[in-house]
Amino acid sequence: MIDIEKIRRDTPSCESVLHFNNAGSSLMPKPVFDAVLQVLNNENSVGGYEAERLAQDDISAFYTEFAGLLNCTDGEIAYVENATRAWDMAFYGLHLAPGDRVITHASEYASNYLALLQQSRRLGFEIDLVPSDAFGQIDVGALDQMIGPRTKLIAITHVPTQGGLVNPAAAVGRIAKKHGVFYMLDACQSVGQINVDVAQIGCDVLSGTGRKFLRGPRGTGFLYVRRGIMDRIDPPFIDLLSATWTQADRYEFADGAKRFENWESFVAGRVGLMTAVRYARGIGMRNIEARVETIGQDVRNTLAQLRGVEVHDLGEKKCGIVTFTKAGIASADLADTLRDGGINVSVSKMQSARLDLEPRGLSSLVRASVHYFNTAAEVQRFALAVDAA
Ligand SMILES: *Cc1c(COP(=O)(O)O)cnc(C)c1O
Repeated sequence: MIDIEKIRRDTPSCESVLHFNNAGSSLMPKPVFDAVLQVLNNENSVGGYEAERLAQDDISAFYTEFAGLLNCTDGEIAYVENATRAWDMAFYGLHLAPGDRVITHASEYASNYLALLQQSRRLGFEIDLVPSDAFGQIDVGALDQMIGPRTKLIAITHVPTQGGLVNPAAAVGRIAKKHGVFYMLDACQSVGQINVDVAQIGCDVLSGTGRKFLRGPRGTGFLYVRRGIMDRIDPPFIDLLSATWTQADRYEFADGAKRFENWESFVAGRVGLMTAVRYARGIGMRNIEARVETIGQDVRNTLAQLRGVEVHDLGEKKCGIVTFTKAGIASADLADTLRDGGINVSVSKMQSARLDLEPRGLSSLVRASVHYFNTAAEVQRFALAVDAA
């Protein structure tokens, strides 16, 4: 299974800081950090374009590693600078018209929802919210019922930024397929902590980031677009990489998901993210998923026993994100106190999850997000610090 000692040796900083902020930005394993530095060093010593030539094999491996991770083909993967822009490149390219309907859920990521609001104003489509079931996750039966002839898109988030919930993405995929509705999945918090298989889920588009559970560098992300629906999206921006200027008044899109990329990009970041995916696959996504789920549950159970602490995670299946509040102390102050003690967590605010947190009367939550390199001893140390705060 997982060789935790080796893994912690690969991440020297996990000995100096207790990192429960993997949903914010994880710690890079040493091979990832070294890969980024190698490219930067080459850029410094031989030149940027020349360094890119030297990294050619690693740059192509970006596509094959992601294809292996997500169970798709190389041509269905694009490098994009973050998950938000990756999602936007697909969403803003959809042909939605007045009277069309788009279904999403209260767990949707704020930036995606803002884009839905902007485009619904411009294009005149309606946004429908699928209700939650008794667990607080997407009610798949209700989704099946509410799809009508004008429903053009289901856009949902697999794991929300503000809680341990894992939405039933594959069940949603079966409904989308049954009704022939386009399906976009924001997998920003799931890829890297959960085994995500696009064929099994049945999504048309999937987006994610590098820095979170994949443990890649900041400023990196990716987009998956299913080959069969590629031509139903008109990339909102093109350039001389994503398109070829074939005649003075004509152009053609690049083959496959390359049409969603842009010419200039963070080469060291691409190589770093490729290395992070390779590293995760080396450990095995099923091993990672099992361990993260166990440690996450350990955090939840331990916190629930502390006086004044309330855990707020929804969902039937839960993951490595744990959200809670403590009576008598503001979430931001609790996070500051923990940081002073060498413990990293973050805070989820209502403005970044209005449809979810406002009805529950939660203005902010402390978010502790664990990864496979964390240990039961760290969970104990964390609980003592929360209790003392
Ligand atoms: C962090 C996050 C994003 C945005 O990722 P960026 O790489 O910062 O653009 C999108 N969706 C979810 C669910 C997230 O948690």
